[in-house]
Amino acid sequence: MAIESIENRFAPILAKREAESLYRRRPLVTSPQTAEMQINGLQVINFSSNDYLGLANHPALKHSCETIQDLSYGSGAAHLVTGHHLEHHLLEDELADWLGCERALLFSTGYMANLAIQQTLMQKGDWILADKLNHASLVDGARYSEADLKRYPHLDMTALEKRLQKAQQENRQCLIVTDGVFSMDGDCAPLQTIQALAKTYQAWLFLDDAHGFGPLGEQGKGTLAHFNLTPDENTIIMGTLGKAFGASGAFVAGSEVLIETLIQMARPYIYTTAMPPINARVARTALKQVQQADAEREQLRRNIQQFQTGATQLGLTLWPSDSAIQPIMLGSSEQAVLWSDFLKKQGLWVTAIRPPTVPKNTARLRVTLSAAHTDAHIKKLLHALARCQDDFPSSNT
Ligand SMILES: *Cc1c(COP(=O)(O)O)cnc(C)c1O
Repeated sequence: MAIESIENRFAPILAKREAESLYRRRPLVTSPQTAEMQINGLQVINFSSNDYLGLANHPALKHSCETIQDLSYGSGAAHLVTGHHLEHHLLEDELADWLGCERALLFSTGYMANLAIQQTLMQKGDWILADKLNHASLVDGARYSEADLKRYPHLDMTALEKRLQKAQQENRQCLIVTDGVFSMDGDCAPLQTIQALAKTYQAWLFLDDAHGFGPLGEQGKGTLAHFNLTPDENTIIMGTLGKAFGASGAFVAGSEVLIETLIQMARPYIYTTAMPPINARVARTALKQVQQADAEREQLRRNIQQFQTGATQLGLTLWPSDSAIQPIMLGSSEQAVLWSDFLKKQGLWVTAIRPPTVPKNTARLRVTLSAAHTDAHIKKLLHALARCQDDFPSSNT
């Protein structure tokens, strides 16, 4: 029996992380979340948040918060006990209407929704076919289910089809799981092909559109709408309320049977307290804003183009992405941290993303753009990136 203190076991692990430039720290925010904010006592332009439409600090959302007088703050219980408030219910109805699905179901976080879906729907002997670069919460969700997880190379539709063929021969139910917009890479899943493959092989499709809802599609209806597709009866959609919606929480949308199954059986739904009703009310306001945000989506698109054009002129290695997520590939974690630290000193907050969040040797700066950024913000970023290239040349750029 090994007996050791927590310190004995973990202090060397922490020291090793520090030595490898992999130590993580939580930046301390002391202002509202918006394009110009205060982090770690510095006044910075934030290029790291997922607040793509600038809703987190929007007056309409803040005004909704002030209408709390007819509500309690806490929901007091889980949805199946006494926590399911009319505000939750209305938000679910409005989300389902917006997406053209029969039903929607709220979750406290997207992480929990992703645990719930795979654990509940997939049984022993089934296969989960997942893109290799899916979000960590999808990977964890697959691990919690009894099905076998089979990962296909990023966006590789030939590899996906091969696995579907094999599953068909073995008579196995498959769930294809993919990000709509990949969270660390910014590229989109080829949903036309994926949806067609799912139909052909009678697989189910689980789409995590955390980064598609809001910025993409008409009325912000996400990556499916962006490709002029609509969900069918075997499509399961997950979206979060904490990114472009500027609130907190998540939802799953799909068929009546899907949602009732989750309510009956999904442990991460059943055994947790409902989100505060005021958060649902704020999210209802956010949904209206998202639907109407054509001007913000247009501004975001211009900001993305301005950044892409400028970064390409500098000769930076960008990942092939047209979304608000624009990674600058640097390779080594040391390099990513050097650049990120330099940018901070220039008043620019750009997070270095390192393994294990991304594969080895693919450390990067994850630049995210928002409709709230101005032309001057982006120029300042490009100018500072040019200085990074001079001061810390990287084999990658
Ligand atoms: C952020 C994110 C989640 C988790 O959502 P939370 O509500 O933050 O827990 C899930 N999937 C993807 C792709 C995400 O980016």
